[in-house]
Amino acid sequence: LSTRASDILSGLGINVADEIPGVYDGQWRGSGELITSVCPTTGEVLARVRTASPAEVQEALARTREAYVTFRNVPAPKRGEILRQIREALAAKRDYLGALVSLEMGKIRTEGVGEVQEFVDICDYAVGLSRMMNGRVVASERPGHSILEVPNPLGVVAVLSAFNFPVAVYGWNLALSLAAGNATIWKPSPTTPLCAIAVTQIISKVLQENGIPGAVASLIAGDKDVGETLVTSSDVELVSFTGSERVGRIVGEAVASRFGKTILELGGNNASIIMPDADLSLAVPAVFFGAVGTAGQRCTSTRRLYLHKDVAEQFLDRLKGFYSSVRTGDPLAKETLLGPLHTGSAVRTYEQAIEKLRSQNANIITGGKRYQRQDISGGNFVEPTISIPTSTNPKNDIWSTEIFAPILNVAIFDELEQAIDWNNQVPQGLSSSLWTRDVRNVGKWIGPSGSDAGIVNVNVGTSGAEIGAAFGGNKSTGWGRESGGDAWKQYVRWSACTINFSDAAPLAQGVSFSS
Ligand code: NAD
Repeated sequence: LSTRASDILSGLGINVADEIPGVYDGQWRGSGELITSVCPTTGEVLARVRTASPAEVQEALARTREAYVTFRNVPAPKRGEILRQIREALAAKRDYLGALVSLEMGKIRTEGVGEVQEFVDICDYAVGLSRMMNGRVVASERPGHSILEVPNPLGVVAVLSAFNFPVAVYGWNLALSLAAGNATIWKPSPTTPLCAIAVTQIISKVLQENGIPGAVASLIAGDKDVGETLVTSSDVELVSFTGSERVGRIVGEAVASRFGKTILELGGNNASIIMPDADLSLAVPAVFFGAVGTAGQRCTSTRRLYLHKDVAEQFLDRLKGFYSSVRTGDPLAKETLLGPLHTGSAVRTYEQAIEKLRSQNANIITGGKRYQRQDISGGNFVEPTISIPTSTNPKNDIWSTEIFAPILNVAIFDELEQAIDWNNQVPQGLSSSLWTRDVRNVGKWIGPSGSDAGIVNVNVGTSGAEIGAAFGGNKSTGWGRESGGDAWKQYVRWSACTINFSDAAPLAQGVSFSS
């Protein structure tokens, strides 16, 4: 193992043996297939991880349910105190964990550290929430009656996560789920098992110190088969799935067919709209970060850019300037802004998308191929690309499909209504951003005839959300909401409890049923 990789792993107490156990449900084990963690920057094999055998998945599920049965009776503020300790433990390892995200996933170091910070933030939020997950008292129409709406813990929550946020997405779910009194079972992406193992080691230690069963936060490394078992299990009350639309459709249908609950956080296809009165000194760098940051591998990455005709030329000139000076290289190096794609297959997807653009006579004004530089030839590095397709039809594949790579398609419009229509005409509805100083445009954009996405920003790019608001998208992005806002309400079981404290038993709506 390279020195930098072993420094990061040993900083997190991960012992890189020949094989690392990838299953935790109170104890570490794993006797299923091996998965390999590969560094996207160098191609170095970081570790081989033992996944769960089918029997071990069942055992982990059983242990997780047992843990829930104990944990649901722990008072919510006490659960909050455990989250506070988890928050402290994560913060103490923030830099190492952030570096591991960068090493294993490929995003730049500050984004890796930022991802851990997001987990820390949601823990803070959930600590407060643990004293505020209130039900309510509803006025009854019957004398001497009271109606309560009562939230109780829900059960077992399976968290199935994507490669691109190997820490934060789990954090959003774990923090709310744990505050709500549930047990979680996490199946991370098969290509980022080390992040999941490191996080679970930190959390399990805190649980152990508090005498809480480790299976309150279980982990099962694995791929599709493990995912399918969790999704179809009637022992899982809620499946929180983050990933592609393709897999989300399978998961959504499977869980619905057994009347389970889902939170679906699927693909995005996000647009920025630039009005003639936009402050370009803010808008251009924001679009650059949105499209090129994380090498275009955020669900909220900017993939479509709609430019008003009066500013189009100037905007593109300035944007090209940023693209030509982007510092590409090792994501762990301080100066780097653009790291690799996560896998070789993502590079192929990028190349196929470029080929398709060319076949439809798109004007590729910058980028369009793999980097040819010798120093980064071991990694999955591709040039960030700006293209102007000939078609502006949002139903065209070029516009309607999420390509998880740094490709930005541009079209030019005359009227805001046209751009909003294009914004809304794709299947996905995650994030959107309008750049203007005119309050009339803002009103239109956030109102009934405005953007139909779950995230509707003004003078803020499409990517980079905070934890305070509920995060998620509409339409084929899955309608899920996570993190802040009212998202916690999905992690509890609601009961309407009518209590009669009178000496009569009247029926509702004055119904008479006496013999
Ligand atoms: P993916 O769909 O390939 O995989 C996601 C997870 O599903 C993985 O853990 C995978 O092992 C598992 N899986 C695969 N087949 C399964 C099956 N049949 N049953 C159950 N589980 C199965 O996604 P990915 O490539 O890891 O991530 C990229 C995608 O995730 C992009 O589309 C991106 O937009 C999306 N994403 C969305 C959000 C959001 O909040 N909306 C956030 C991050 C990523």
